[in-house]
Amino acid sequence: MTIARDEPIVAIATPAGRGGIGVVRLSFGAWSGRPIVARFHAALTGTTLAPRHATLVSIANRDGAVIDRGLALAFPAPHSYTGEDVLELQMHGGPAVLQLLVTRCFEVVDDVIDEGIDDSAPPMPTGRMRLARPGEFTERAFLNDKLDLAQAEAVADLIEAGSEAAVLGAQASLSGRFSDEVHALVAELTTLRALVEATLDFPEEEIDFLEQSDARGRLSAIDDALATLMARAQRGALLREGLTVVLIGRPNVGKSSLLNALAESEVAIVTPIAGTTRDRVEQTIRLEGIALHVVDTAGIRVLGEGPEDVVERVGIARTWEAIERAHVVLHLVDATAMQADEHPDDALIVERVPAHAARRTIVNKIDLVGDTARIEPARDDIEERLYVSAKTGDGIDLLRHELLAIAGWQPEGETSFIARERHLVALRDAGRHLEAARGHADQGDRQLDLFAEELRLAQNALGTITGAFTADDLLGEIFGKFCIGK
Ligand code: GDP
Repeated sequence: MTIARDEPIVAIATPAGRGGIGVVRLSFGAWSGRPIVARFHAALTGTTLAPRHATLVSIANRDGAVIDRGLALAFPAPHSYTGEDVLELQMHGGPAVLQLLVTRCFEVVDDVIDEGIDDSAPPMPTGRMRLARPGEFTERAFLNDKLDLAQAEAVADLIEAGSEAAVLGAQASLSGRFSDEVHALVAELTTLRALVEATLDFPEEEIDFLEQSDARGRLSAIDDALATLMARAQRGALLREGLTVVLIGRPNVGKSSLLNALAESEVAIVTPIAGTTRDRVEQTIRLEGIALHVVDTAGIRVLGEGPEDVVERVGIARTWEAIERAHVVLHLVDATAMQADEHPDDALIVERVPAHAARRTIVNKIDLVGDTARIEPARDDIEERLYVSAKTGDGIDLLRHELLAIAGWQPEGETSFIARERHLVALRDAGRHLEAARGHADQGDRQLDLFAEELRLAQNALGTITGAFTADDLLGEIFGKFCIGK
C-alpha cells in the first residue's frame, strides 16, 4: 500500500436536506496510523473509539454545549474505505447540525495540532484539514489500491443506478468482475510479450520464433477473448447509457402514436430533453430498467421550410447529436399505403446514423387492413418487418422484445457488468493494436520488435481501464463527477 501524503479531509456524506440520519466522514490522510488520530477522537468525542465498534458519543461545541448525540465509528488503516484512518459520525440529518459538526472537526484539528505533533514520526504534511472534493474519498481508495479505476467508476454508477439491472451490473463491476476479465487479457499479453522479448534479447536463437512459440495461435486466442469482453462491455455500457432509438417515416405514419404506445404500456418516465422548450423530440422511456432514448425525427426539418429560431435550432442540433449516437433505427410505414416510400428527409437522416446501428421496418396501422401482428424475418434485401398497430397496441409487445434483444437484455441471463464509453474506447484501441501486431507477425520474424511494440501498446490500452496507466486529467474528470462525501 502506498503511504498517504495528503492532509485529512472531511465532508458531509449524506445528501443535502433533512433526514433521520446524517453522516460526517473524515479520512485522515498522512495522519493515519499515528497517535494524533486517537487524540483527535478523544478531543472530539471525549472517549476512546475501539476499531469498527459503534460508540454512542456526544459532541459539544467549543463552549461545551452539546451539538448532537450519535454514533462514532473509527476504521483504522488499512481496513477502511479509503485505506487511511477513517472516522464516521452518524448523527441527526439536519443541515445545521451537520455543518456545526464539520466546524467542530476543524476546531478540534487545530487544537490537537497546537498541542503538539508526535515528534518521533516522520514529518507531517503541510495543511491541517480541508473539505473533501467531490469523489475524493473514492479517489483516495483508488490511490491506496483499495479499488481499481473501473471499480471506482462502478461506485458512481451504483449511486446513480435507476433500475435493478443497473444496480446488479454496477455491483458486478464493483466486485471486480469486469476488472478480472481485463486482467486475464493483460496476463495473456504479458506472457506473449515475455516470449517475444526473450527472443529479441538473444537474437542468435531467433529460429523461427513465431512458429515455435505458436505466437499467432496465442494472438488469435487473445483476439477472441477481447471480442467476447467487448461484446459484454457493450451490453454493460447500454445498461448504463441506454439505447438510442430513432423513429423515421413520412408524416402521419404514426411515429408519435408508436412512441406513446411504447411509453404508456410501461411505468413510463417521460422526459423532454433538458434545455429545450419546444418539440419534445427526445423522450426517455424505460423497458425492464433499460433506458430507451427515443428520438422522433418529426421534430427536425432537414429541408428547412422556414426560418428557425434560436431555441428551435438548439433542439435540432441536439436531435442530430442523438441521431449520430443511434443504436436502432425504426422506419415506420403505413399498412394502408405499403409502397414504403421514404420521406425525402429519411435518406439524409439515415446517412448520419452509425453504420452498425440496427434497422427495422415497422408496418403500422395493421388494424385498418385487418392484418395480424407478427415479425417477418429479413430476406434478400428486405429488412426485417414488424407488423403493429400503435392504436390498438397489437404487436407492441413484439417490438418491445425486439428492442430489448437489440440491447442485449436477457430475462434470466447472467448479470452483465456495467461499463462506460471510456472502456469501450480502450477495448477498441487494444483491438487495433492487436490487429497491427498480426500484420507484423505475417511479415515473419523480421518484424518481431514491431510485433512486441504493438503488444505493449495493446496492454497499455487495457491498462487505462483499471487505471494501471492513467493520466491525471482523466482521474480529475472521473472523480469530479462524484458527489461530495463519496
Ligand atoms: P406521425 O406524424 O408519424 O407522428 O403520426 P401520428 O402518430 O401523429 O399519427 C397520425 C394519425 O394516424 C393519427 O390520427 C393517429 O391517430 C393515426 N394512427 C397512428 N397509428 C395508428 C394505428 O396503428 N392505427 C390507426 N387506425 N390509426 C393510427
